[in-house]
Amino acid sequence: MSKFWSPLVAGLVPYVPGEQPKVENLVKLNTNENPFPPSPRAVAAMQAAVGESLRLYPDPESELLKQTIADYYQVQTDQVFVGNGSDEVLAHIFYGLFQHGEPVLFPDISYSFYPVYCGLYNIESRTVPLTDEFQIDPADYRGPNGGIIFPNPNAPTGLYLPLAQVEELVAANPERVVVIDEAYVDFGGETAIALVDRFPNLLVTQTLSKSRSLAGMRVGFAVGHPDLIEALQRVKNSFNSYPLDRVAQAGAVAAFEDEAYFRETCDAVMAERERVAEGLAELGFEVLPSRANFVFARHPGHAGADLAQALRARNVIVRHFNKPRISEFLRITIGAVEQNDALLSALREVL
Ligand code: PMP
Repeated sequence: MSKFWSPLVAGLVPYVPGEQPKVENLVKLNTNENPFPPSPRAVAAMQAAVGESLRLYPDPESELLKQTIADYYQVQTDQVFVGNGSDEVLAHIFYGLFQHGEPVLFPDISYSFYPVYCGLYNIESRTVPLTDEFQIDPADYRGPNGGIIFPNPNAPTGLYLPLAQVEELVAANPERVVVIDEAYVDFGGETAIALVDRFPNLLVTQTLSKSRSLAGMRVGFAVGHPDLIEALQRVKNSFNSYPLDRVAQAGAVAAFEDEAYFRETCDAVMAERERVAEGLAELGFEVLPSRANFVFARHPGHAGADLAQALRARNVIVRHFNKPRISEFLRITIGAVEQNDALLSALREVL
């Protein structure tokens, strides 16, 4: 606290990202990064982008990237917005599309950045409890609200809401923007982008951080009706005209062009997810059915915090949330085969 702080800054409760430890040889399964490197084509494109041209500003509108994403999902370029990670895209959504004097709705167990944006932009919110099975029930998202947002698959549970139910929820709230945060959708979910042409209130966000292994480049995007996209453009161009640098734009375009690598690496992560889930179940864990690149699991005989600490002592880091309803759970990112083996054998030792 300092006398130079604005009252707003003094009242902020910032998001706390998962630890990025400086120690080597850790089995790092705490921030849902992809164990595979980015596509070799993306790496080559980024390397080629490093040179003389960096003295010039990047394309402020990332036109080539927007066109690439539009072609990939068979929408128009004016239905695509890109930003510096989907976190930035989400920030602009909260600022530009969610202020209505009625509470924005999101699940009680969900991405913990949502309440942070509400605090930053002074937006009222109300959390909607997941069912006892940790599911989202579309019937709970009726009545007055200033907008709705949830991840699908949800984080940190990994549970996926089928598209028909997403559609039901979007159709029931025609006067409000409904945002589906699909950060993890490529690991076995079906994207709601297929619905955007029918629902002008639907906005879908995605990221290249997880399924395209580019967390270090910070590229995210939103797809929806051109009117929603224009709102985001207006916020972006009132904040930072150049959110994506030249290297990020080049890498992101090439990542979308390498479909074979994308498929292969997503399939490998999903296969490992099933193996890890089985291994955990054999050790007595209850594992929620995940469609993401992580699993959410609890052990009936051991407290979540104790397990996380015991793993840490064995150089394995996973994420533990000290929050109501989920304090017994561990969120474990699916790593490479050896990392997953290390996790399972460390757990065997602990238990
Ligand atoms: N949404 C969800 C549900 C996430 O878990 C994350 C990753 N922390 C993000 C959005 C943001 O990802 P990024 O900013 O790397 O695109």
